[in-house]
Amino acid sequence: MRGHVNHMEQGTRTVWGGEDEYLLQGATQVPVVHSVGFGYHDIDEWQQVALGEQAGHIYGRNTNPTVHVFEEKVRLLEGAEAATSFATGMAAISGVLFGLLKPGDRVVSVKDSYGGTNKIFTEFLPRFNVEVTLCDTSNHEEIERETRKGCQILYLESPTNPTLKITDLARLAKTAHEAGALVVVDNTFATPINQNPLHLGANLVLHSATKFLGGHADALGGVVCGSKELVEQIYHYREINGATLSPMAAYLLLRGMKTLSLRVQRQSENAMKIAQFLEEHPFVDSVFYPGLESHVHHDVAKRQMRQFGGMLSFSLKGGIDSVRNFLPKLHLAHLAANLGAVETTAGPPRTTSHVECTPEEREAMGIPENLVRYSVGIEEADDLLADLQQALAYAQSQVQEKAVL
Ligand SMILES: *Cc1c(COP(=O)(O)O)cnc(C)c1O
Repeated sequence: MRGHVNHMEQGTRTVWGGEDEYLLQGATQVPVVHSVGFGYHDIDEWQQVALGEQAGHIYGRNTNPTVHVFEEKVRLLEGAEAATSFATGMAAISGVLFGLLKPGDRVVSVKDSYGGTNKIFTEFLPRFNVEVTLCDTSNHEEIERETRKGCQILYLESPTNPTLKITDLARLAKTAHEAGALVVVDNTFATPINQNPLHLGANLVLHSATKFLGGHADALGGVVCGSKELVEQIYHYREINGATLSPMAAYLLLRGMKTLSLRVQRQSENAMKIAQFLEEHPFVDSVFYPGLESHVHHDVAKRQMRQFGGMLSFSLKGGIDSVRNFLPKLHLAHLAANLGAVETTAGPPRTTSHVECTPEEREAMGIPENLVRYSVGIEEADDLLADLQQALAYAQSQVQEKAVL
């Protein structure tokens, strides 16, 4: 059968995965089905589909053919039994948490999860009497200690946003399972090309599909993969609460995913070259990239990731003023909050990933104000390096001028 991808490599799955059943009348591309309703002549068949006893679609808030193909493609890439999608990455995250937790439950996570996720932990879950303990992200002993005290969910992200910290997913999954907890991993930064958390022991893996999966910064989406049992529970929450992925967004994400493997490979190669360049630059204070041998958990990253991804961050000498001087001088970067696109984007966490947080909260999370988050695109590495070089030279000259005055 065409597109039968069970035994294929990731780069083949990105192209063919999940599509075959939905290619109509010889079409080579998945149709965008905008229809909200799906009709039946036979009311018994209708009822069977409605009860989920037979394959098919009833109503657009529940399922849709284009959306289904998107879910299938990600499911195959993550090696999962089931997948369900959401309107955004944040909807996927809140769908998992509010779909699985109840008052009195406890969640253990890390301090530098995505800014929006952090807000769910600090602002919204406590309102429903769910206790959240946020650990120092790099401190595996602390995460294990808190997990062993008892919790329903251990929620992890690796690499983290924006300082690219790495947590040992296999080690922490083992601890969590011994403590009877489920492990949820936000795999947005790594992508299924570079890391498969389910193979490392996680119960659920989720993505902001808005980022690398779509890859073109033109569609919002989220997706969660795991066992049939857990995904059904999360799907039920979403079908009732209504944060459904639109068919048009699903199509754009699907089209983007055709090149996921190529893009991520190029972005990972570019990011490695840039991280090495920045590490040697005298105006750069520190570079955060898991592919560097100087990264505290490079050994763990090497074990659990295939490549190290397209995200990096670095801090500049001269504080926030240097960031102010540096960023507008970049010619090959949108100064924008999105990431994972074919174009390079750059920005400080205080206007991007952690805009929701106060300066005090960012400091508590260990996010320096002079940090630049840099999402590497698929441009030629030499052009990006030259661009960084001239912008750094300018920012450096401004500090020297100030010192002279
Ligand atoms: C962007 C992002 C999210 C949120 O996704 P949206 O699609 O913007 O809702 C969650 N986690 C990570 C790591 C992200 O980068």
